[in-house]
Amino acid sequence: MFKTGLQDCDPDVYNIIEKEIDRQKNNIILIASENYASKAVLEASGSVMTNKYAEGYPGARYYCGCEYVDQVESIAIDRVKKLFGCEYANVQPHAGTQANLAVLFAILNTGDTILSMNLSHGGHLSHGNPVNLSGKLFNIVFYSVDKKTEMIDYDEVRRLAIEHKPKLIITGASSYPREIDFSKFGEIAKETGALLMADIAHIGGLIVAKIHNTPVPISDFVTTTNHKTLRGPRGGIVMCKSKFAKKIDSLVFPGSQGGPFMHIIAAKAVALKEAMEPDFTDYQKQIVKNSRAMTGVILERGFRLVSGGTDNHLFLIDVGQKGLTGDSAANALDSAGITANKNAIPYDTKSPKITSGVRFGTPAVTTRGMKEDDVKVVANLICDVLSDIENEKTIAKTKGAVKELLIGFPIYE
Ligand SMILES: *Cc1c(COP(=O)(O)O)cnc(C)c1O
Repeated sequence: MFKTGLQDCDPDVYNIIEKEIDRQKNNIILIASENYASKAVLEASGSVMTNKYAEGYPGARYYCGCEYVDQVESIAIDRVKKLFGCEYANVQPHAGTQANLAVLFAILNTGDTILSMNLSHGGHLSHGNPVNLSGKLFNIVFYSVDKKTEMIDYDEVRRLAIEHKPKLIITGASSYPREIDFSKFGEIAKETGALLMADIAHIGGLIVAKIHNTPVPISDFVTTTNHKTLRGPRGGIVMCKSKFAKKIDSLVFPGSQGGPFMHIIAAKAVALKEAMEPDFTDYQKQIVKNSRAMTGVILERGFRLVSGGTDNHLFLIDVGQKGLTGDSAANALDSAGITANKNAIPYDTKSPKITSGVRFGTPAVTTRGMKEDDVKVVANLICDVLSDIENEKTIAKTKGAVKELLIGFPIYE
């Protein structure tokens, strides 16, 4: 049993994974938070490092036999510091949400006030949504985007910060297609005596490539995921000023987690190395070029985009304006081989399960090698489907076109 490979040991799971590989190969993945991790990253995350218990931190573990996992965690930490220029990093959070919760619980008492971005305007569940621990245990005040421009209204952020005196201001988003001015958040936090946390889960890669301004020197805390534009394994990282290092470390372990996932930390180290290569910057630039190229086509074809366009890797189509729901639009696209997700848009009148928007992102197709001309084809296919979502012929035709297009963009071969 122990020596048996997956195919023989568990054909059920083996076959499901094979089908998932096919799904990832045969669909155009436009989910803005997804990507294809490299073979090297997959190899590290599937390695024997998964066997090791390593509660504690490098050089100060609660278990013996940590000499090698110590090395790999130290490498990961050094690479984060080098890439982002931060004073301190903790690479143990199991995911982005855990990274965010670690910061909140490290510096706040329950009931303290947080100022953060409204979920339906682009924020994230872990920024104080009532269904998340962050929303249940703290007093949350939300800022919104401006109704007309659909961009962050920094005057409102400032006004709310003065009025509510939050202990922490959170900036960063999951579905905001514009560049965030982190220096403005820094000024507001300074003026009102708040701590500042920037969550760069989505835009980490763009920041490494210097396409987006960095929040690192002006924020007390910066959190990120590893698996979105950074193209690593699933996971999270907390960066902070040195003076908060002890608090963050003890809140991650033992405060909210047990043993770190050493196989994932090894894979994080690999992805961070990849992010130091010059071609990673080219990749990030292409992500944004592709996003802009797609929005150009979509606007030309008469669809409305939230905020009118994009500065980054993602954009949102207001399908409500065409009388559609985000739910039905995303499902029609998926059956045509184009995978995106329904998403609330600012001031949405529909419920989160229905929504009026569909969110698209270009990190995954850019990893496959698509350039502007290729994604323009994809954008036209999207518009074809959305122009008549009940039309089975269009969906079948689109599916064929997707298959043909993807022949030129193999993955994991
Ligand atoms: C994706 C995301 C996270 C964390 O996601 P996990 O699924 O917990 O890894 C946190 N913040 C923002 C803004 C995100 O977009």
